[in-house]
Amino acid sequence: MLVRLLHFLIVCLCAVFSGSAQIKNDYPIHPVPFTKVNIQDNFWKPRLETNRKVTIPYDFEKCEETKRIENFEIAAGLKEGEFNGIRFNDSDVFKIMEGAAYSLANHPDSELENYLDNLIAKVAGAQEEDGYLYTSRTIDPENPAPNSGTERWSLLDQSHELYNVGHMYEAAVAHYLATGKRSFLDVAIKNANLIAGSFGPDKQYGFPGHQEIEIGLVKLFRVTNDEKYVRLAKYFLDIRGEIVEDVKYPQNNSTYFQSHIPVVQQDKAVGHSVRATYMYSGMADVAAILGDENYLKAIDKIWENVVYKKIYITGGIGARHSGEAFGNDYELPNETAYNETCAAIANCMWNHRMFLLKGDARYYDVFERTLYNGFLSGIALEGDKFFYPNPLACDASYKFNQGALTRKPWFDCSCCPSNIVRFLPSLPGYIYAVGEDEVYVNLYMSNTAEIILEDHTVEFEQATNYPWDGEIKIQINPKEKAKFKLKLRIPGWSQNQPVPGDLYTYYDEHNKKIQAKLNGDDLEIKTQEGYLMIDRLWDKGDEVILDLPMEIRLVESHENVIDNRNRLAIERGPIVYCVEGIDNKGGVFNLLMPEYAPITTQWKDDLLGGINIIKADVPSFVVRENGEEVKTKSHNLVAIPYYAWSHRGIGEMAVWLPRRAKKLKIDAD
Ligand SMILES: [Zn+2]
Repeated sequence: MLVRLLHFLIVCLCAVFSGSAQIKNDYPIHPVPFTKVNIQDNFWKPRLETNRKVTIPYDFEKCEETKRIENFEIAAGLKEGEFNGIRFNDSDVFKIMEGAAYSLANHPDSELENYLDNLIAKVAGAQEEDGYLYTSRTIDPENPAPNSGTERWSLLDQSHELYNVGHMYEAAVAHYLATGKRSFLDVAIKNANLIAGSFGPDKQYGFPGHQEIEIGLVKLFRVTNDEKYVRLAKYFLDIRGEIVEDVKYPQNNSTYFQSHIPVVQQDKAVGHSVRATYMYSGMADVAAILGDENYLKAIDKIWENVVYKKIYITGGIGARHSGEAFGNDYELPNETAYNETCAAIANCMWNHRMFLLKGDARYYDVFERTLYNGFLSGIALEGDKFFYPNPLACDASYKFNQGALTRKPWFDCSCCPSNIVRFLPSLPGYIYAVGEDEVYVNLYMSNTAEIILEDHTVEFEQATNYPWDGEIKIQINPKEKAKFKLKLRIPGWSQNQPVPGDLYTYYDEHNKKIQAKLNGDDLEIKTQEGYLMIDRLWDKGDEVILDLPMEIRLVESHENVIDNRNRLAIERGPIVYCVEGIDNKGGVFNLLMPEYAPITTQWKDDLLGGINIIKADVPSFVVRENGEEVKTKSHNLVAIPYYAWSHRGIGEMAVWLPRRAKKLKIDAD
């Protein structure tokens, strides 16, 4: 284990900090690797353990059962048979392998390691002589799966040939960093060399229909220092939307593919939300390494468009089922909200990269909101059922989850379950980051961490009952006295701003103040770019206590969000709440949430893994008689965290509740 961790650290340091002889740059801020952070948190540890013990083996089993893995065996000549399933099914296997590699890095498990070794041998066997890897074609080149194209790379807008291998690069790099073995990395390099030799100026013209390879290529660059990979990522980005004379390229001029105009001219989030957000992440990566200011200007504008006009209160993005796409500005319907789980993950990935570029806490306000709400709802507490879309209301009849009204065990297109399984084990890597002489604390959860800052090693010990309680104790233990700036993120929600911009506002100012102490002495709360900064010579045993007021807050939407007019949502800390029928006499569409209702919170140890529920005495809107009269009677409303809904049978759910029956009636009319 020790040898492995040391290896990981050396590779990370080389990869992140050195760059190649030609390219020296990367993000100015570096994440503290997840292998250096040990989570002991009451809230997150059970989720990470469930992912490791249940979801990873479960997802692999599903890949066996649905013949996703058999496709590699057939392509490798280990078995006879035909390709089974959809042309992009290879990518699910790669994503689960990536998650398994992350898991191995922190939890050695010889059984899982052997399973991965065997699987890598099958993947390597399925790779063609020159590096090409795409089981749909290799199994029967004359009859590949529908929409694979008749020849290699002949139908790039549909085939996902480049998307699949992008996920393979991410998985191979994760496996190499976790185990030190090159078996998978060599498969990835061979494939990437084939693609780099085939695409580019004076070679084949084309870019992927589904972005992802850009991110994978950058990861491959970081471990190999071979700059052709990052140049290839830039090529794929730069030709997207470029109209080239004499080149007919069907997916150009399409908002769905974000190819309607060149990427540097884009200023709004459009089209398929996962494609888009992977692209913005790839642009951030390439900009950090190659220093392209035009990329930065474009993703800044697009970020503002998303956060000011297109994000749900849960952090979900991509409002439309049709095209799995972003809607227009302020188009945020609740029952039909798409909010793909993959898009929530991609939103976290993108905001993390924006933070690494700029060191501003506002990106983590979006990250945290997405993490605790729009992402976490995607997986059941038990770890083996999933949401693909994550709506903000359910009438118990519109089957929003691919034909179901609750989480499903799997999907034909199972991108979301395989994405969750790789995102969760990497969570410890999102808590801390280091700049030149500064340590950022971006997420609050109980953990111990070893942080290397220039020539200092500093141990951090964080203890908290977040997100239920706002007190966070951080012990700072440098090996020797060390001078650096500690930057504690002060979340927007604790400063009267749910998310940057004016899409959401709190109904009233909160009363309690943020408090912080250093070794028992009060600190003045002054924030810079969203951080409380403490600059000092740190000594062993120094202790900072941050106390964020966890009050129940009511949120309003911008008036342009038609579906939320005259409605309020309930929040407490980073958690968005919802009401479910099961706690509210069966129905929720008859409930009102007036701003004056007395409201309290109560801890329920035995409910949904342990949650704080919120109770309010509200008038419930009962019936309209003769189409007019509104009768109300009092009701004890119970709200639960949004992420925990749909665990107790099928029923109604809503996040946004009307403040007044009268207003509701007018809206309804
Ligand atoms: Zn998905």
